[in-house]
Amino acid sequence: MEVRLLARDRVWLALAWTAVCVAALLPLAFSRGYVLTSYGDVVQCFLLLSVFIACARNVKASKRQSRFFWLLMLSGFGLWLFSQLLWTYFEVFLHREVPNPFVGDVFLFLHLVPIMAALATQPFAKRVSRVGELGAIDFVLLLVWWLYLYCFVVIPWQYIHPSEGLYGRSFDLVYFVEHAVLLSVAGYIWHRSTGHWRIIYGRVLAASILYALGSVAASLAIDFNRYYTGSLYDIPLNSAMACFFGMAVLASRLSFSSETADVEPRKRAQWIEWLATITILSLPIFAAWTQFVSHAPLEVRNFRTLLTLAIMMVMGGLLAVKQHRLSKHLAAANEELEEASLTDLLTGVRNRRFLATTIESDIRQVVRSFTAAPGAHTPSNRDVIFYFIDVDHFKEVNDFYGHAAGDQVLVEIARRISSAIRHSDFLVRWGGEEFLVMSRCTNRNGAEILASRILHAIGKDEFGPFDGQRLRRTCSIGWAVFPWFVGEPEAVHYEKVLQLADSALYQAKNDGRNKAIGILPATVSSPLPGTFEYDNGTLPARKIVTLGPGYEPETLEKNPAGPDLTPSALAAAASQDA
Ligand code: GH3
Ligand code: MG
Ligand code: MG
Repeated sequence: MEVRLLARDRVWLALAWTAVCVAALLPLAFSRGYVLTSYGDVVQCFLLLSVFIACARNVKASKRQSRFFWLLMLSGFGLWLFSQLLWTYFEVFLHREVPNPFVGDVFLFLHLVPIMAALATQPFAKRVSRVGELGAIDFVLLLVWWLYLYCFVVIPWQYIHPSEGLYGRSFDLVYFVEHAVLLSVAGYIWHRSTGHWRIIYGRVLAASILYALGSVAASLAIDFNRYYTGSLYDIPLNSAMACFFGMAVLASRLSFSSETADVEPRKRAQWIEWLATITILSLPIFAAWTQFVSHAPLEVRNFRTLLTLAIMMVMGGLLAVKQHRLSKHLAAANEELEEASLTDLLTGVRNRRFLATTIESDIRQVVRSFTAAPGAHTPSNRDVIFYFIDVDHFKEVNDFYGHAAGDQVLVEIARRISSAIRHSDFLVRWGGEEFLVMSRCTNRNGAEILASRILHAIGKDEFGPFDGQRLRRTCSIGWAVFPWFVGEPEAVHYEKVLQLADSALYQAKNDGRNKAIGILPATVSSPLPGTFEYDNGTLPARKIVTLGPGYEPETLEKNPAGPDLTPSALAAAASQDA
């Protein structure tokens, strides 16, 4: 892939590599001494400062996940630069050899941690906030363990029982392990990476290999007393720094924004989770080894035991935090799942499962409230009214404008019904283009009003446009009230009332559609009961008919725009009806 770097960056990069080449050639001309050491130190400062600046530039230019990646890289190279500055301060300004053990070594050890963290963020992978958050706790667990390892292995020989030889060997050990981990992490994630990030991870991997080689070379040379800053042993290290710099500069010219993340996020959390668990389980083993196997001096063993206990406390605390978060996320996920299982996918209103889970307790409460105050014929808002709503000639919408348009109309119809009912009423998609409104805490005397509001909410305004055409749809409604007999709330089961409402809807359809038919039991105050015929027989009942807007539902074949709703047409229809 051809990437053109900015002219400024090309010059800067050339300068970096020239400095590396000069550093490789100088030992041939000069023997060990101040010139070589100073040049070596200054070149490494220059190279690390270059990587640092390039990373800072990338932080500024990137967003979200990528920014986090570069921020971590920046801190890693910042620590490395800091340790190199300390080194330079001793060798160049103070003109002294760096003491051994050296306080600054801890920064050298630490700088790889943010770099590994940066690699582990995997900006190319899909981010799932939950997994990310728990992953972050796992990562902190690993980090704590890593620091523990350093304190356990290296610190005793620096402060508790100072010993140059043991310190050097212990530091080399943890440092090599750290390099091995860095290489494995870089290699593994490079293998998983996609798009332009693959190029960046590839460059990091290559630079890390050079860096590991450089570290091994320098350590061996130190063991054989052949190492000094600026010697030939620094060649791989300097090259690694220049490679890191090249990687950061290249990244500034690649675009990451348009990349689609398609790596499964769950996997990432799992391997970190496993590692974190292993580290926790390793602590008792370290403690046992210290007590029963190790021949280290007593003060070192005491220090290590105390350190292990302290870290157990810290990691235990982190584990408790993780557990707490996990429970919270689990509860939230369950709630979300339950909500989804009670919601209709297309329209976002409630589904039948929701009704099934709530209706029994609602009905029991209604029955209780009527039993508590028997005989009252017009109790204040204790009724439940079931309205079945079915869109008229809905199939035509699909047939004329396609299924997608039909879906849009359904969504809009659900919205219109929602806006017509109260917040406390339930709107359920009963199936297809049929809805059920369960109006609660209401009064049968006002049942017609809601029926009329729904008829108008659906039928009054047009839908669309679809294919440039706007269309009108009306609906038919059947409603019935629970309890059927106010004085005997348990005499008729609510399922029977639902059946009655459904039969009323059927009648509304047969009666010409675009109207609501409600049925109420014949009462003393309405002494002229009609007879309501339904599937399973007849019963004495009053029938209440409410007409929809425009009155005459029309099919699209006759009139694609739906019924005529101009004021004159409405007036004509009204007089005809009267
Ligand atoms: P009427 O009720 O006035 O008798 O006529 P209709 O055309 O509405 O009645 P019918 O029950 O025959 O047709 C219902 C149609 O609703 C059939 C089906 O294709 C359509 N339908 C059901 N569910 C959906 C859906 O989720 N999306 C779409 N686009 N159409 C649906
Ligand atoms: Mg229909
Ligand atoms: Mg239908």
